[in-house]
Amino acid sequence: MPRIALIPGDGIGIEVVREARRVLECLAARESLDIELTDWDLGAERFLRDGVTITDEEFRVLDEEHDAVLLGALGDPRVPTNQHAKDILLGMRFRLDLYVNYRPSTLLFPELSPLRDAKPFRIDIFRENTEGEYTGIGGSFKTGTPDEIALEENVATRKGVERIVRAAFDFAHKQGRSRVTLVDKSNAMRHVGGLWRRVFAEVAEEYSGIETDAMYVDAMAMDLVRRPERYEVVVAGNLFGDIVSDLAAEVTGGLGMAPSANVHPGKNALFEPVHGSAPDIAGQGVANPLGAIRCVGLLFEHFGHPTAARHIEDGVRASFASRDTTQDLGGTLTTEEVGRWFVDYLEKAYSA
Ligand code: ATP
Repeated sequence: MPRIALIPGDGIGIEVVREARRVLECLAARESLDIELTDWDLGAERFLRDGVTITDEEFRVLDEEHDAVLLGALGDPRVPTNQHAKDILLGMRFRLDLYVNYRPSTLLFPELSPLRDAKPFRIDIFRENTEGEYTGIGGSFKTGTPDEIALEENVATRKGVERIVRAAFDFAHKQGRSRVTLVDKSNAMRHVGGLWRRVFAEVAEEYSGIETDAMYVDAMAMDLVRRPERYEVVVAGNLFGDIVSDLAAEVTGGLGMAPSANVHPGKNALFEPVHGSAPDIAGQGVANPLGAIRCVGLLFEHFGHPTAARHIEDGVRASFASRDTTQDLGGTLTTEEVGRWFVDYLEKAYSA
């Protein structure tokens, strides 16, 4: 029985997770999947009230007594340092060793893309999630003086690179995709780039039917705008993967629609919409819950229920086609109305 922790977090995270939960419960019943949901009060409110972000015991319970986490968003203007978001989200990524950051970017509706003449496409991005430029290794010296020096190290281990590259090839193999593209900057960053290139070539040899390709990140940024349909599965380090996946989310319809998964295959998984807590629209009932609902699709795929995942993608298409959406997608529904519409859609889809 999958045990799933719900962490709504802050701002619109609270509103979109409420609707994602509705969809999750409906699908669990329809798929006869026995789930146990636990509610977690982690976020700015708790930090401001108790001065605690997340405890070691909470990390332990999330790690050992849960199979997945569904997170809304973390970030609140009352916590300008964003300390709680760093502790909770980065803490889970590192402590639960969620080394795969997986983001599917699907252009379902060309009219949602800022690209001219966009054709439907799908890019699956695998970003390394535990190393690279985001480990905090480094320091500064003579801080605040004209001679200040700051260092931020780019960490790459053989093990860390190999496991994310393998995850990308495994996915391509299982999903019948024909090409995996490595994104790096190995012409200018030779040490880390060299390790990535060697490991990529070695792992590729094990997957004879899959074509490979390597792009420098600057050229990739141009290509994602010029001819994104050329790409299928993309693998990159932490920093470049972060940038390229935001760009891919934007060219496929924007933040409100994009889901992501942070996974340690065979162990733990954390699902979160790509958007943040959007304090500017929080509490107004206008947040688009489709990114969070799509996370539920990824969650069901993760637990081996592809039909449920397919129904979610079909539901996203249908809601846009009939404009049963929030304002950002041209509709007039509230966040809650979209959630209820979605459950209705699923009930009908399963009864058909
Ligand atoms: P973070 O740093 O946490 O990623 P951010 O401030 O960069 O957060 P978001 O919080 O995602 O980015 O919001 C950016 C803007 O996009 C918001 O001002 C909001 O108007 C819009 N937005 C984000 N998510 C949604 C959504 N689900 N529905 C509607 N609009 C959204």
